[in-house]
Amino acid sequence: MTARLIDGKALAQQVRDEVAIRVKSLHDRGTEPALAVILVGDDPASQVYVKHKVADCQGVGMRSILDRLPAQTSEATLLARIRELNADPAVHGILVQLPLPGHIDANQVIATIAPAKDVDCFHVASVGALMAGLPGFKPCTPHGCMRMLQAAGVDPRGKHAVVVGRSNIVGKPMAMLLLQASATVTICHSATADLGAMTRQADILVAAVGRRRMITADMVKPGAVVIDVGMNRDEAGKLCGDVDFDAVRNVASWITPVPGGVGPMTRAMLLVNTIEAAEASRR
Ligand code: NDP
Repeated sequence: MTARLIDGKALAQQVRDEVAIRVKSLHDRGTEPALAVILVGDDPASQVYVKHKVADCQGVGMRSILDRLPAQTSEATLLARIRELNADPAVHGILVQLPLPGHIDANQVIATIAPAKDVDCFHVASVGALMAGLPGFKPCTPHGCMRMLQAAGVDPRGKHAVVVGRSNIVGKPMAMLLLQASATVTICHSATADLGAMTRQADILVAAVGRRRMITADMVKPGAVVIDVGMNRDEAGKLCGDVDFDAVRNVASWITPVPGGVGPMTRAMLLVNTIEAAEASRR
């Protein structure tokens, strides 16, 4: 069996096209959707991410506001800037690029973002709403993964989903979304005793660890749907996932590639959250 690819790049384009229509519709009704992105310091990876986010906004006709603050910016100054953006009715989404310099408490920063503008879905109110099944933003990466399952025609209901990784931004919310979609969910982590025994039970396997090619073909049940969230560098410095793609594609029924899988979807879902925030601001 050769797995079919869930093409994140193509699907992300579809999502962006949908967002562009919603942006236009809001424009026509007098609202210009806007995302504010704050970058503190000059971390090279963060600079690239922020550049992409700004370009993505432009691509769908959305306004972006980029605040570049020096690395020595005090926490108080950053919090004051967030409060300003919270109070600005022309700003619908606020994102502070992580990681922050060591002297700034990221939890405090996230807690200061107004939940209605928390398009990253990191605020405890957003996380709580997700947990309670209340309306609210869905975190970009897991939301993108769910959209990929949907595009492949995979309904998680009644299936056994195994999520490897329990971080606040990927593993835990991923498990929660799968649970909400009525999958039976197992969450694995670094203390899981026999990882292969767990992953081999998965109808849907989500790898979100950050270790290149750690999910080998013998860890995958034949016919499983495999979502690879990992973003790592291989020996040659090339981007690769957590899944041994070349081997696992001979076992799985569907698989996401890296690059061109979850990454582009994560970026697209940020636009979805921002347009949702802008639409909600009119209600
Ligand atoms: P974290 O480092 O925060 O979490 C990694 C998780 O993997 C932890 O829960 C850890 O367990 C678990 N883990 C580590 N080693 C093992 C092991 N040997 N067996 C089982 N579980 C293990 O990473 P993130 O969740 O932030 O990111 C995960 C990966 O996804 C990274 O490669 C990251 O770059 C990528 N990523 C990709 C995105 C995209 O858009 N494509 C977006 C976000 C992340 P424990 O909790 O016990 O330490």
